[in-house]
Amino acid sequence: MPDVEHPSSTNAPLEQVTIHGIEPALLNQRLRPIAKRPPGSLVIHEIYRSLQGEGTHAGLPCVFVRLTGCHLRCGYCDSPHAFTQGEVRPVQEVIDAVLQFEDRLVQITGGEPLLQAEVYPLMRALADAGRTLLLETSGAVDTSQVDPRVRVILDVKTPGSGEVQANHWPNLDRLKTGDEVKFIICDQHDFEWSLKIIDRYNLTNRVPVLISPCFGKINLEKLASLVIDSGRFLRLQVQLHKILWDPNQRGV
Ligand code: SF4
Repeated sequence: MPDVEHPSSTNAPLEQVTIHGIEPALLNQRLRPIAKRPPGSLVIHEIYRSLQGEGTHAGLPCVFVRLTGCHLRCGYCDSPHAFTQGEVRPVQEVIDAVLQFEDRLVQITGGEPLLQAEVYPLMRALADAGRTLLLETSGAVDTSQVDPRVRVILDVKTPGSGEVQANHWPNLDRLKTGDEVKFIICDQHDFEWSLKIIDRYNLTNRVPVLISPCFGKINLEKLASLVIDSGRFLRLQVQLHKILWDPNQRGV
């Protein structure tokens, strides 16, 4: 898929999103692929149907809507193709494309999907249509405007991601019933750091807490021992799609 092309006549402003821990010039550069889309449209990397690979819905059929653009550069990112590649599509066209599948489960992902303001009417329309909506977000953008019917899967960026400074901590206070929080663990230090955050925000008493190995970086058996020995109510998860298919395969 080629990098995003925009009609040259459009000049929509960047969204007023709160972004932390990134220098403005770099931020503008990273947001460029989504900055000049026409009003009422989204830059979409891909829409596809597969099995949900993570979280408490793992194993269920799911339609994925992957939005283009991310302001972060996590060291373990498995979707860097979504940073710049995508297609400008009207919101209604995206809604229709999703609803043509009859699956009840839909995940909005990216990239960082909350960087494009039109994601909010998209989520509202899909929730109105009765879909169970999951939103996978980096944890680095304010989630306060997300429709309460949407189940937020909130990443907390660990030190091993290289983006720990980007965490928007008030998002953790907003977690509600139905949401989930995910820590991607690169090493033992990441795990110990995560336990402090889990305890500080009382996460295990509020939402499912997912502990996910950074693919190829930490031994799964070792991580399992850390989870067991922690004494916390944590859910060790693997990315099912990376076991079922080639870990580098797109659209699964
Ligand atoms: S937030 Fe997600 S999409 Fe963005 S760089 Fe990190 S892992 Fe990749």
